[in-house]
Amino acid sequence: MRRIGVLTSGGDSPGMNAAIMSVAKAARHYGMSLIGIKRGYNGTLCKSNHIEDDMVELDLDTILDIADQPGTYLRTARCLDFLRPEMRAHAVSNIHEMGIEGIVVIGGDGSYHGALELCQLGVPCVGIPGTIDNDLAYTEMTLGYDTALNSCVEDVRAIRATSRSHDRPGVVEVMGRHCGDIALKVCAGTGAEICLVPEVPWSIQEVVNRLCRQIDMGNLRATVVIAEGAWDSMQPYDWQHYLMECHERVHDDSTISTSYLAKVLKHKCKAEARPTVLGYTQRGRQPSAYDSWFAFEAGNLAVNLLRNGIGNQVIGIKDGRVYYMPIVEALQKKREFNLSLYNLINSL
Ligand code: ADP
Repeated sequence: MRRIGVLTSGGDSPGMNAAIMSVAKAARHYGMSLIGIKRGYNGTLCKSNHIEDDMVELDLDTILDIADQPGTYLRTARCLDFLRPEMRAHAVSNIHEMGIEGIVVIGGDGSYHGALELCQLGVPCVGIPGTIDNDLAYTEMTLGYDTALNSCVEDVRAIRATSRSHDRPGVVEVMGRHCGDIALKVCAGTGAEICLVPEVPWSIQEVVNRLCRQIDMGNLRATVVIAEGAWDSMQPYDWQHYLMECHERVHDDSTISTSYLAKVLKHKCKAEARPTVLGYTQRGRQPSAYDSWFAFEAGNLAVNLLRNGIGNQVIGIKDGRVYYMPIVEALQKKREFNLSLYNLINSL
């Protein structure tokens, strides 16, 4: 192959720039030119007024400057048009016109489905799992998860220090979409006492009972860590009933949130529970050494696979080493939640 492309798609994650840099280095090493495709699959549709806003030749010297920066130099976005077959056909013709013979796709499982579609249309793709969620079963870690986790651990430690000073509980919401791995490891890493995840059903009453028990035992500053997706695993409840008890009202059940949970806990457990939603700080950090290492090896392997004519693959970590497997098989794998760690955290 003489020319390849690289794109970042879906939610951004720490390490995306490091992966772009690694792809650029390997491409230069093997004498291939590299096209940066902007804003995920949007760039392949060439809808901007200027082509440089969609696809641009990447110069290694420019890329070297951005490797350790958070975010993604290529920008990232969802592209709903790409779900339509006629738009994907249009994308493939643009890709051919640009002389791009293979693409490195850095993104989550949605982006992998897009890559699979491109492969089926004759454009070889290799995926790098850029997402903080750690929700891809075929890899031990996704790119960005380690950084996001470290960021959360640092923040929850700080929140627990203040909780300790004031003897009041904390309720902290972390990211992870439908995956509770960030919440789980944050609890293990900080000693937070109550962990709520999407994978295990829970009820308000149970959280109230457990926090009250902590307080009865003299622990006035316990932390509840809730994964953002855990609202979906909350058992049937009378949310309005709980809120009315604390003179609060929500008009729409979809607005249930960490601040309301803190209000209910404050009322039922007679403790000044304080809510914090950690939000995008988790995605915007400089990559950890682990994520930078993974990005470095993954980018290099992706280029090598393409130049050896091995497309339709995704890169992951198995037994601590970088490896690859077919996209189709990776997408079929079912994630196993670490229930024993969850039980340990919640029972000790
Ligand atoms: P992530 O990659 O982080 O999981 P999304 O699920 O939002 O993020 O997917 C990113 C993009 O991948 C979508 O906006 C769309 O352009 C593309 N994509 C997702 N699913 C498909 C699909 N089934 N077919 C084609 N493209 C898809």
